Amino acid sequence: MSNSPDVLVVGCGAVGLSVAYNLAVQGLRVRAIDRVGPGAQTSRRAAGQSVIAQTDPAMGELMHGSIDHIVSFEKRTGVGFKYHQVGSVKYALSDWAEAQLHREVERARLLGADVSIVALDDAQQLAPHTNSKAAVAAWHAPKDLYFSPADMLAAYHTAAKNAGVEFQFDEDLSEIVVEAGKIVGVVTNNGRIEAGAVVMTTGPWTKELIERTGPKLPAVYVRHQYSIRSGVPNIHPALPSVRIVDHAVYARPEGTNLMFGTYEPHPLELQSVPNRTEQVPLDGKAIDTALEKVSAVFPGLAGSSVVELRGGVTTMTPDGSYLIDEVASARGLYFITGCNVMGLSCAPALGEHMAVWLKTGKRPAVLKGFSLGRFDNYNMSSEEIRNRSLSEYEGIYRDGETAGHVRHYGDAPGVSP
Ligand SMILES: Cc1cc2nc3c(=O)[nH]c(=O)nc-3n(C[C@H](O)[C@H](O)[C@H](O)COP(=O)(O)OP(=O)(O)OC[C@H]3O[C@@H](n4cnc5c(N)ncnc54)[C@H](O)[C@@H]3O)c2cc1C
Repeated sequence: MSNSPDVLVVGCGAVGLSVAYNLAVQGLRVRAIDRVGPGAQTSRRAAGQSVIAQTDPAMGELMHGSIDHIVSFEKRTGVGFKYHQVGSVKYALSDWAEAQLHREVERARLLGADVSIVALDDAQQLAPHTNSKAAVAAWHAPKDLYFSPADMLAAYHTAAKNAGVEFQFDEDLSEIVVEAGKIVGVVTNNGRIEAGAVVMTTGPWTKELIERTGPKLPAVYVRHQYSIRSGVPNIHPALPSVRIVDHAVYARPEGTNLMFGTYEPHPLELQSVPNRTEQVPLDGKAIDTALEKVSAVFPGLAGSSVVELRGGVTTMTPDGSYLIDEVASARGLYFITGCNVMGLSCAPALGEHMAVWLKTGKRPAVLKGFSLGRFDNYNMSSEEIRNRSLSEYEGIYRDGETAGHVRHYGDAPGVSP
């Protein structure tokens, strides 16, 4: 038997660790490599929030599946990590936002997700660190949860090792080797690694690496960041995550501190991704501006101070959906990118579906809507891709009706252009 793995997973963030773990559970011989270490880059800096109310049915299915995976992870793997299933509250401050909350609840109902409009007095009980009187409406999703990304990544790494994945770090991929239309392996700083199939889960670095093999990936690089704030009264881990549609802000407990982030207008777009996430320049001004706008909802934030700014690069796409496919000109070469700030929470289910695809050769239905082919008939210019992708970031809390966006191209399940 050759020493080559059946599948080589390149990139050990949340997505790569989950893909590697699930492939090994399927009985495949898996090697996973990373130029840094397990979960050391974008995934470690994520907010760690899972939100069941999704606009797109495929995203809803992935999110449902991922929450189930997180809740049952210890039972299935023997490796525990702490999660807080404390639910979330979403506020609307204006009429258009209230109308959107009602649509979100209706969509969630169709997807079988537990989300309901609650009276503002009830929202106040659920989220006593907010002032619900500043809002006009609220919904509550009791199954939403949050967790520490570092804990989740460590657990997936251990579970993957236990399942038989062979890890190699300090492996910096420099070349993807394709011969006669089929993947052969990759070249790293340590030499050539051959494999029957290669899955590129290199996060925001994937676009540039895959484009070297032929296809163009419609996506842009956008910085996302949040602050950790101390001095906010009465914060404890059992409080729900809170979001405000109107100003695209979120807040969740981080111990007795409060994590507060925003999807600001005119975000920082990067032309290329720095080699390390810690090299991404951070700047808290946009967060402070958002905080002023929602100060009536979060009166306790007034005297808070910033303990830490965290951020990284996300890949945004013109319809806010993942890019997941096999490269047509390189059979056996797969990629997962275009996270649209949703790659951590859906990684558990994404990994499971990718493993089924590689094991059976059949792409699971839930992944079909994320193929590159959905853009084929649109012939978008680079400028259009850029503008639409940036507006997906700015409008991430707005549904298609509010934002007037195309929410899914091609024949994606559910939402048509
Ligand atoms: C501030 C912030 C908050 C976020 N909050 C959330 C959230 O609450 N929920 C959510 O779902 N998502 C969130 N996201 C998005 C989420 O972080 C990403 O979608 C997710 O981390 C992507 O995971 P990944 O495994 O694809 O990428 P990464 O975690 O970046 O992993 C990619 C890996 O590939 C490796 N790599 C890259 N190039 C090479 C190479 N040439 N050779 C070898 N290895 C290589 C890197 O070292 C890295 O370890 C947030 C993002 C940011 C920036």
